[in-house]
Amino acid sequence: MPSRVKLIVLDLDQVLWDHHDATSLTLPLRRIDERTLVDSSGDKVVLREGVRDFLEKAKDKGVYLSTCSWNEPEKAIAVLRTFQLDRYFDLLMIEPHPEKDRMMGKILNHFAPKGVREEETAFVDDKEEMLEKVRRRYPKIKTLRFHPDGDVYSFRDLEKILLGE
Ligand SMILES: [Mg+2]
Repeated sequence: MPSRVKLIVLDLDQVLWDHHDATSLTLPLRRIDERTLVDSSGDKVVLREGVRDFLEKAKDKGVYLSTCSWNEPEKAIAVLRTFQLDRYFDLLMIEPHPEKDRMMGKILNHFAPKGVREEETAFVDDKEEMLEKVRRRYPKIKTLRFHPDGDVYSFRDLEKILLGE
């Protein structure tokens, strides 16, 4: 049985929501329902089903949450705030470059004083390239590809895998 997961690191575009690039959105954003927002040019972002439940369950279980996203922080944070999801995350790691191994280094450093080890960390991303990049530098991290052809493609299933329900 592998170590219990103490930290879940989530990509944003095409994982937390369907949109492929939050940086391309035009502010301000307007929420139109529980799972949908629209930007100033009419572009829509739809939150994946079950995201809020998943984040809430993780918090109830004392699991730390971080993002790991290649985006302009201003844009991605605006999406998280508009959906009122920012409060679930212990760390918002969002940087405008694709070096997710570097971002992961900062994330692990941030949570190390709280007793989180590499092997107790899970990273969820839709792009195999990003998962591979992180695995190469941190081989003990549990990586999951969120994709129709990947390891998981719903937050219900992610919950079963990572939170044991
Ligand atoms: Mg992505």
